Amino acid sequence: MNEKWPKSLVVVGNGMAGSRLVSELRARDREMRITVFGAEAAQPYNRVLLSNVLAGITAPGDIGLTDPGWYAANDVDARLGAEVVAIDREHRTVTSADGRATPYDTLVLATGSAPVVPPLPGLDAEGVVAFRTLDDCRSIMDLADGAESAVVVGGGLLGLEAARGLAGRGLRVTVIHLAGHLMERQLDAEAGGVLQRTIGDLGVRTLVGARLTGARAENGRVTGVELDDGTVLPADLVVLACGIRPQTGLARAAGLTVDRGVVVDDRLRSVDDPDVHAIGECAQHQGTVYGLVAPAWEQARILADLLTGGDSRYEGSRQVTRLKAAGIELAAMGETALGDDEAEVVRFADPTRGTYKKVVIRDDRLIGAILIGETTTAGLLTQLYDRAAPVPSDRLGLLFHGLSPATPAETPVRIPDAATVCACNNVSKGRIRACWEAGARDVADVAAETRATTGCGGCRDTVEGILEWLGTQEVTSPPRSGRT
Ligand SMILES: Cc1cc2nc3c(=O)[nH]c(=O)nc-3n(C[C@H](O)[C@H](O)[C@H](O)COP(=O)(O)OP(=O)(O)OC[C@H]3O[C@@H](n4cnc5c(N)ncnc54)[C@H](O)[C@@H]3O)c2cc1C
Repeated sequence: MNEKWPKSLVVVGNGMAGSRLVSELRARDREMRITVFGAEAAQPYNRVLLSNVLAGITAPGDIGLTDPGWYAANDVDARLGAEVVAIDREHRTVTSADGRATPYDTLVLATGSAPVVPPLPGLDAEGVVAFRTLDDCRSIMDLADGAESAVVVGGGLLGLEAARGLAGRGLRVTVIHLAGHLMERQLDAEAGGVLQRTIGDLGVRTLVGARLTGARAENGRVTGVELDDGTVLPADLVVLACGIRPQTGLARAAGLTVDRGVVVDDRLRSVDDPDVHAIGECAQHQGTVYGLVAPAWEQARILADLLTGGDSRYEGSRQVTRLKAAGIELAAMGETALGDDEAEVVRFADPTRGTYKKVVIRDDRLIGAILIGETTTAGLLTQLYDRAAPVPSDRLGLLFHGLSPATPAETPVRIPDAATVCACNNVSKGRIRACWEAGARDVADVAAETRATTGCGGCRDTVEGILEWLGTQEVTSPPRSGRT
């Protein structure tokens, strides 16, 4: 270990950012004393996959990020089920809920977000649950057993995934959404309408422009919700997906600058204290607080590099959203609400069939896109958006796979090596090819080497396609080296 590296590091928060930081650090350095506090008692898990757990696609036991024995084997002091309640920057200690003080040279805050619970009457009744943690997910599944109807409050990504999962479990589900259309942060109004129709066809009723005023309960158990127009919707289960708020109380109390998140610079350091860092959903970089896993993991990688002598800088992330709901294909990125008067907009809509496609181009660069119903060009659009590469002159090929010979089709052979295949883990096709050449032969091999497919899982088909294609190449070009 280099003299300049911190001797003892404390990480507060063992979610997706904190746990990734710890594993990235251990991969680089075996000696640094690392203590990680996790308020949740569970081993770290892939929160993104909770929607799949709720939908019954994935078992709760299959979403772990770390083997139970990993901490002991890697000499990491993991305090699970231990909340940090105070930071003393002067004496460089954190205090956990049991009153114990733990010293640090360097402190990393990775405390994520908490669900927003509107201050409305009745929301403390039994049967009203926010959707954030594995425990929440288990509660929702328990309550769904034997329930007939559910109301989901919030028609954003999380609410719609929860609603689809509950409908798949046989519940009558209504989503109530305050804004004028669904997923208004990612979609324009027309796309929101197409999505509303699609999810309606899958058995989820949605009410937009609907304001919740409270929940009704009998004997402490929820029976329904009320809207401001007097409507009462009966419900045995109410899921709150009304947004998230970065957990910044500790940082604020310790005198660190907090806006929406803990304000950090390009080295992910608090702007007040070079020995305190923040990553993931609790951090605010250049005015942005990210709510997706790819930026959190990118920040974890960069911070691990910085804490072990590297000179990386975080320059911000581009966000691509994909809905994980059976029967709905949806990808969105960038500025999607712009109209023809503000940018070059190419659009195709077939609402009856649930298809909506839109690309927004400025100065020959893709600055936004929506694909609903059919997402075969999502990979191509993600690559163009990610790399701010010039878009082909024939725009139609951006909307329809293989329509234009001028557009690089999304077949494995034509994906450039530099293109990002797994956005969550920033894995390029070139890295997957390198894995293949080192002996990897299936998705599990590639995941073990690169972590591709282990985030939201949306790139799994593409990785499989690349491996299949490389397999066909093997006849003429065998792997260069044995498996490492
Ligand atoms: C159901 C669901 C589906 C999602 N789907 C997607 C998706 O498809 N794609 C995507 O990119 N993102 C998705 N997300 C968002 C993604 O999960 C988050 O962006 C990611 O988890 C952020 O990581 P984080 O480490 O910052 O926060 P978290 O993963 O929330 O981890 C923070 C941890 O810190 C702990 N903590 C907080 N305060 C303390 C304290 N004082 N002491 C000790 N521990 C503390 C918390 O208990 C928590 O375990 C989804 C989220 C949910 C809930």
